Amino acid sequence: MEKSMRSSTTNVASHPANPPDVQGRRTFTPVPFTRVTIEDTFWAPKLQVNRERTIPHIYQQCLQTGRIDAFRPDWQPGPEITARGPWGGTVVMFWDSDVAKWLEAASYSLATHFDPQLDALVDEVITIVAQAQHADGYLNTWFTTVDPQNRWKNLRDWHELYCAGHLIEAGAAHYEATGKRTLLDVVGRYVDYIASVFGVEPSKKRGYCGHPEIELALVKLYRATGERRYLELSRYFVDERGQQPHYFDQEARERGEDPATFWAKTYEYNQSYRPVREQREVVGHAVRAMYLYTAMMDLAREYGDASLHETGEHLWRHLTTKRMYVTGGIGTSRHNEGFTSDYDLPNENAYAETCAAIGLIFWAQRLLQLDCDRRYADILELALYNSVLSAISNDGQRFFYENPLASNGHHHRQPWFHCPCCPPNLARLFSSLGEYIYAQSETDAVVHLYIQGTGQLSVGGQTVTLRQETNYPWEGTVTIQVMPEQPATFGLRLRIPSWCRSASVRVNGKEVNLTELLEQGYVRVERLWQSGDVVSLDLAMPIERLSAHPDVRTDQGCIALQRGPLIYCLEQCDHAEPLHRIVLPSTAVLTSHVEPDLLGGVVVLRETAAALIDTDWEDTLYRPHPPATRPAPVTAIPYYAWGNREPGPMRVWLRACTS
Ligand SMILES: [Zn+2]
Repeated sequence: MEKSMRSSTTNVASHPANPPDVQGRRTFTPVPFTRVTIEDTFWAPKLQVNRERTIPHIYQQCLQTGRIDAFRPDWQPGPEITARGPWGGTVVMFWDSDVAKWLEAASYSLATHFDPQLDALVDEVITIVAQAQHADGYLNTWFTTVDPQNRWKNLRDWHELYCAGHLIEAGAAHYEATGKRTLLDVVGRYVDYIASVFGVEPSKKRGYCGHPEIELALVKLYRATGERRYLELSRYFVDERGQQPHYFDQEARERGEDPATFWAKTYEYNQSYRPVREQREVVGHAVRAMYLYTAMMDLAREYGDASLHETGEHLWRHLTTKRMYVTGGIGTSRHNEGFTSDYDLPNENAYAETCAAIGLIFWAQRLLQLDCDRRYADILELALYNSVLSAISNDGQRFFYENPLASNGHHHRQPWFHCPCCPPNLARLFSSLGEYIYAQSETDAVVHLYIQGTGQLSVGGQTVTLRQETNYPWEGTVTIQVMPEQPATFGLRLRIPSWCRSASVRVNGKEVNLTELLEQGYVRVERLWQSGDVVSLDLAMPIERLSAHPDVRTDQGCIALQRGPLIYCLEQCDHAEPLHRIVLPSTAVLTSHVEPDLLGGVVVLRETAAALIDTDWEDTLYRPHPPATRPAPVTAIPYYAWGNREPGPMRVWLRACTS
């Protein structure tokens, strides 16, 4: 088996140069965020905060913690910086990635909102980063200054290729945003050097990174430059993963270690426990998994590789039907920062790392390029509006690393972390958010997300401008003006979210038959479109009470509230009773209320529930009949907005009773 798998890794030349339709399906390319505007009252203010507060804040943190100076040739790290932990490493080993993600976020921001000061700052940081590059192209601060004798000695744990990946993403983003080749040329030299070290040739190491990242970065570099060797290196890293003899075993022995003493105990941790096409369950460290699956889908598209696509679909089904929180959060356990077992989804102890939810969005977007199916876009939207958005404060300068679904009142956003992977990941996602809204193919224009603004799509060789007007996510009415340059026949696909149980679509006022036109959750209207045509979409957005699968132990007897794409929660500061005493009767009729001055403007849900009372319990701890109740008003706020007021407990899953 290993032989046949390996021979396939060398046979890259036989693959077609252009991405064909995988399994005969059309490919749907995201519309670049530079051709998209966001002009609503929900996202536009948040993106402004990202530009004006979050990106400068992250720069200041990188500067103050020494991450930028670490690239200077005279960097002198103190012993407090180089002290190592139980895995033989330290987070300083991946400091480079934080600066790189900041460069990527700042570059995207420059592309849509040019700012000469930020441009100059980015140039300055790139000059400093470039100083750390060796004559052979190598670029990594830790293995230059602190540990030069250990270059490429522990790919399993030490994030060397991971850091390279983030620098590559930054180089591609900076080039595409500004046209400048300064960072692109630096990372290009680095990648050429990496390609001289790793590969299937006998003279090279057959290694790959314990933390996937470089694989998806190389695809971006290929797309930015057209240099196919970058794509081929990405495929090498993905195909080599998990092959026997296992590279992480070999390099451990070369270090004089017994591979069986691996601190994480299993190669499931880094998704190298078997070759990627043989993986059938989402396991291990959640961020690593998401970055790997994202690259696998990129390669499925570029090479027309049906086996990778099928693997991705299988893993997607497993994740979203057995191992995902109702908020789109993923990765239950702090222990491995990742997955545990099916239906193991505790709320207060949920890890649900911000980066993992962001990675889920990346993966969903890649799957959507292969197959325009709402299963992917619905989860993309769920993660974006809930588990990702919860991770950042309204002021854009405090962050959650973990996104639990319940809190006893001690979980608060922080301005920075010892391992600060999440804040710059949020910044780069938000500054490129436009890229997740629309897609285009030769024959179709697609709207995945409903966000007021415009998209300039390229369909069948001409520009088609779509203009959305909507008050989403608060209201489900969307009006889309379709403006092709010339009248043209093409399909317009609009997602009907799975949370919506009653939808209607009108074209120039005339209702279309949704049942006939629905394809994988998208209504597809094909006609001769003319400038001025208007499509109206009405998505009913009632308050839903969600129940969890009977095997999700922690959620039995509870319900979660959802309205449109938003999951709701109760926060203690809105309630006189402790949240654990509140019980929602099934007869309770929740109503929605617009609160323009609350939490930046939200819709809250209100109703009178019941609260358990202890007035007749005195010193009793247990007794043979239940507590009495009294009426108690409840107010639910969107989950993403919790933790922005007076600190206190929070709950997503609420106790429910049938009477
Ligand atoms: Zn993170």
